[in-house]
Amino acid sequence: MDGSDLVADLEQFLASHEAELVEFRRDLHAHPEIGYNEHRTTRRVALRLAASGLRPVILPKGTGMIVDVGGSNDGGPVVALRADIDALPLQDEKKVAYASTTPGVCHACGHDVHTAILVGTGLFLAQQAAAGLLPGRVRLIFQPAEETALGALDVLAAGGLASVGRMFGLHCDPRLDAGYVGMRTGPITAACDKVTVEVTGPGGHTARPHLTADLVYALGKIVTELPAALSRRVDPRSSLSLVWGQISAGAAANAIPDVGVVSGTVRCLDDDAWHRAPDLVKELVDSVALAYGVSASLDYHRTVPPTVNDTDCAAMVTAASEAVLGPGRVVSTSQSLGGEDFAWYLESVPGALARLGTRVPGSGGTEVGDLHQPIFDVDERAIGIGVRMLAATAITALWDGTPITNTQAHTPTHATPTRA
Ligand SMILES: [Zn+2]
Ligand SMILES: [Zn+2]
Repeated sequence: MDGSDLVADLEQFLASHEAELVEFRRDLHAHPEIGYNEHRTTRRVALRLAASGLRPVILPKGTGMIVDVGGSNDGGPVVALRADIDALPLQDEKKVAYASTTPGVCHACGHDVHTAILVGTGLFLAQQAAAGLLPGRVRLIFQPAEETALGALDVLAAGGLASVGRMFGLHCDPRLDAGYVGMRTGPITAACDKVTVEVTGPGGHTARPHLTADLVYALGKIVTELPAALSRRVDPRSSLSLVWGQISAGAAANAIPDVGVVSGTVRCLDDDAWHRAPDLVKELVDSVALAYGVSASLDYHRTVPPTVNDTDCAAMVTAASEAVLGPGRVVSTSQSLGGEDFAWYLESVPGALARLGTRVPGSGGTEVGDLHQPIFDVDERAIGIGVRMLAATAITALWDGTPITNTQAHTPTHATPTRA
């Protein structure tokens, strides 16, 4: 298959479907649902895909679904594409016709956009499959509950990645103009874990610390020694940092308490360091506690690892996107300190998460807000861009990494697109 055919097919598909996808997104935006409550969203997506002959399988908890497009069960390549479908518990403060109609719930992270893009991508790929142009199977994963970092684990538990060889996803980026894709090899999002240390001792009179264990002093040592020791035990390039946010112990100036608690977060940009962090923190807590005669228990709560983009998969996204969007449309992007549960998938299969520009070009972006702000909105031309990007990436990956060659210098019709 040659790339100019794909470009032509995509442009033709979007000419007849882009307005519908924008409306689809606006409908989801007006009816946002938080994690595991995405029943209406699930129904809308499933009905639309079923209407084009696809067979969505709803996930066990009742929201989100998995839909296979094309191919057979012959062990051929399967490429997965994921969209998260949940909204945030925030009040929508936008003055637009499609503002949230549900008090206290808002699509402020762009997951409505991701969902509309994956619906469009699925419809396009189904059309290609029917024409015998899809060289394998593409699995669409509509994942619930990303904001609580739990939904990806449900998809994994349901066997959603069975037979999948590579996996791709995207996230809205309000700091990048619509029309552009941001890509990065290696980690693109960060890990953020929660750590709580509880220290206990016999307690006693502050006149006689030598007859008991000076618990507040020991707690203070843990607070200062742990971040310092971590910075000497872990490669500084991993940017592993422990920062305390809460501490409590004692009730009286002259009584050594018998319990104290400190909690904070561990942020980390590196996957290896993230995997080693709990054991290391435990070892350091134990050694400080031992030195001061107190007992310490550690509660290390994992949220998500960093999302680590595979080198080959990142190159596929870049090659495929440039083939259908035009040269120079993929830019490098920096690693974010935010967390993203797409990371769980990439612990199992190679893949890549892309950033999709959603800023209105020339606007500076201030009027539509940042992710998780109650005024967050997007330039909806990004929906068509996202369909082009995901569809081309899936087909490129099915061709086992051989990039689609764009045989004609394609002037993207969306370089200065009009709003659908
Ligand atoms: Zn979010
Ligand atoms: Zn998000």
